[in-house]
Amino acid sequence: KFITLEGPDGSGKSTILNLIGDYLERKGIDFIISREPGGTVIGEKIRDIVLDNKNTNMGPETEALLYAAARGQHVYEKIMPALESGKTVVCDRFVLSSLAYQGVGRDLGIEKVKMINDFGLRGIYPDLILFFHIDPELTLKRKMLKEAGDRLEQEGAEFHRKVYQGYMELLKKYPKNIKIIDADKSINEVLRQSIIEVENLLF
Ligand code: C5P
Repeated sequence: KFITLEGPDGSGKSTILNLIGDYLERKGIDFIISREPGGTVIGEKIRDIVLDNKNTNMGPETEALLYAAARGQHVYEKIMPALESGKTVVCDRFVLSSLAYQGVGRDLGIEKVKMINDFGLRGIYPDLILFFHIDPELTLKRKMLKEAGDRLEQEGAEFHRKVYQGYMELLKKYPKNIKIIDADKSINEVLRQSIIEVENLLF
């Protein structure tokens, strides 16, 4: 089975991802955990290019194509083989992130970004998407506290809000297999909600 975690920056996905891993281990489930770009050699090189975008004046279309290429390699090299050998795959971010960040955040349009991603996905789609819902104003505040001294640029905050709106639109547009987790809550509570959905899928 293929499970992905989605949500805006600062929604606590990565922490919960590791705790879900601990849970699956205890249950004796054969699984792998992955994160985009998936630790593939090609994916890491693409990641370096994308992260260097401040120095390279990268256009939004290029950014979207590079994310789609990294994801395609991740599917080809890691996700498909694991699923085919019967493993459960739990992945931090997948195509929904691109639809929200590049499709809506960067104004490319959800449909266009979906099209270039579909090309590399080999027909796979998550059996369960845990969407970590959190008030964007709350994550902005947390982020500002963490980066105390570093003034959060206005553009950063606007982008963050746009991505959140994008996710809200996507939840309506593609509700298939998406479960909404209330990520405003404590880690224990968020984990509890997540495990219920994982159990419903696996057992
Ligand atoms: O996974 P994590 O929350 O650490 O995401 C790191 C960053 O990668 C996000 O803040 C976002 O800016 C960027 N990202 C993106 N487009 C994607 C996936 C991630 O812009 N499709």
